[in-house]
Amino acid sequence: MKKALIAIWSIMHLFIGMAFASDGNDWLTYYEKSGFLETPRYAQTIEFCRRLDNESKFVKFTDFGLSPQGRQLPLLIVDGKGKFEPEDISRRKLPVILIMACIHAGESDGKDAGFQLIRDIIINKKYQNVLDKTVILFIPIFNVDGHERFGPYNRINQNGPKEMGWRVTAQNLNLNRDFLKADCPEMRSWLKLFSTWLPDFLIDCHVTDGADYPYVISYAIENRQNMAEPVRQWINTNYLPNLEKRMETCGFPLIPYIGFKDGFDISKGAMSWVTPPRFSHGYGAVQSRSFLLVETHMLKDYRTRVASTYQILLHTLEIISGDAQTLLNANRDADRITSNLAGSDFALRYKMNEDTTWLDFNGYESEVINSEISGGKWIQWTQIPKQSRIPWFNSADPANWTRIPYAYIIPPEWGELIDGLELHGVTIERLKHEVPLEVDSYKFKNVSWQNDSYEGRHPLKFGIDLVSETRTFPVGSAVVICNQRTNRIIAQLLEPEGYDSFVSWGFLDAIFEQKEYAEDYVLESLSRQMLKDRPELEKEFKEMTAKDSSFAVSPSKRLDFFYQRSPHWDSKINLYPIGKLTNFQELPLE
Ligand SMILES: [Zn+2]
Repeated sequence: MKKALIAIWSIMHLFIGMAFASDGNDWLTYYEKSGFLETPRYAQTIEFCRRLDNESKFVKFTDFGLSPQGRQLPLLIVDGKGKFEPEDISRRKLPVILIMACIHAGESDGKDAGFQLIRDIIINKKYQNVLDKTVILFIPIFNVDGHERFGPYNRINQNGPKEMGWRVTAQNLNLNRDFLKADCPEMRSWLKLFSTWLPDFLIDCHVTDGADYPYVISYAIENRQNMAEPVRQWINTNYLPNLEKRMETCGFPLIPYIGFKDGFDISKGAMSWVTPPRFSHGYGAVQSRSFLLVETHMLKDYRTRVASTYQILLHTLEIISGDAQTLLNANRDADRITSNLAGSDFALRYKMNEDTTWLDFNGYESEVINSEISGGKWIQWTQIPKQSRIPWFNSADPANWTRIPYAYIIPPEWGELIDGLELHGVTIERLKHEVPLEVDSYKFKNVSWQNDSYEGRHPLKFGIDLVSETRTFPVGSAVVICNQRTNRIIAQLLEPEGYDSFVSWGFLDAIFEQKEYAEDYVLESLSRQMLKDRPELEKEFKEMTAKDSSFAVSPSKRLDFFYQRSPHWDSKINLYPIGKLTNFQELPLE
């Protein structure tokens, strides 16, 4: 960012606002009419959507589902030919761009910016190239129930609007942690919308918390190895350099969405990370689609923040409409590569390494003093600009690998998992009769659950051992053949070590429970008989007693030693019920 640009930010915002306020038509948005201070409630939001629909043949207002409190999840479809069916649009080969706001309902910038932009395109006939070359899906409020928990005190760090919605849903769940596990009805509806339209580019609008600095707007987009290469290249070559240039020119220079190594001393460096798929932009990576996270800065006034969001939405639409085919080709190639991953090694997780590049960062001078209130340190930001060049930890290495099999087989009793896969657009086939199959699978060990509830669940940690065995899979078992554009999601959900796997979120907790118990006096005689029949057990038993003191002093553990080695022990406990077929095999499919 050039220093002079900081000074012209506020002047730019003034002009952007005045152009709308002075044109005299009655198409001002609620936000504009309020003097750029307020955001509309749900009812007024729906009213504006209906008005756009009534006025223009290029806009359709619909919903993509209902919230737990019964509200419509609003969706505006904007198409230059007035075609609103996904099949019509996919025939015309136009990029579909999904813009969503208020996933965190208190962060309403995207709602007001999106309405201004769509009004400018449809009513004021601006940016017609965008209308000709893209299809826009706009969700003004995703978290509709949370949005109506409305009040002035919902965002302690945030400078406006006057009142706003609440971060999470009526069920107290954070939609922006729910993309993979899909516990929220709103998310399940969104995933159906995603699979139906398969958008080519997505934008999720937020307001960030964090350190104070002059930048109004920051962004994240998954552009490391976790994103399929053609899309990664498109982002890094076609999109980001262009966007950064345009945003700087219009007075809103961009900064990547970063954290600081040391919150009290920024000179120690900035860091980025590979985002798990529970988050919107991380979900983009497992769907091989660019998903832009927009984060305006909480301390900037509402009007400035909305103006910056307007610009990033507009410039993204213009960049894509200016070269739509390149994006469509990148997405097509990414899907082809992903469909062919079977037999390849695939990284489930990444860790940041110590490599750094330099980041030119425009911050504020700050002072750290001792606080008599907290007893700790208190950082005080001035408004004095301070330019610095800081190390940026922005490079990742794969942390664990799996090999994508020919297929996963899921017994039919695990219907919740099968339904979950289908929500993400995974194609499921079924066994038409029972069949014994030689499969790879996992045995879990050292399983422990997180004590505190997180998103209504208690995620777990575990170790795994690979097992290979013949299992008989019943009729109706789901066969997930790994020849799909969703292969990355299939692996992330079904490989236990994935960031957001079904196992780690606790969908399979019951497999870790012992359900049959032996009386001690029965085990006493059983163990004596076993030692007589299998003398080699004695050596193992003595070794265990010698090396493991907790074992040595525990009567139940000592008796369990024999129970677990007897044919009475549950052979399925701690065993993953899902099998992997490594290689192609003819299967009796329905
Ligand atoms: Zn947010």
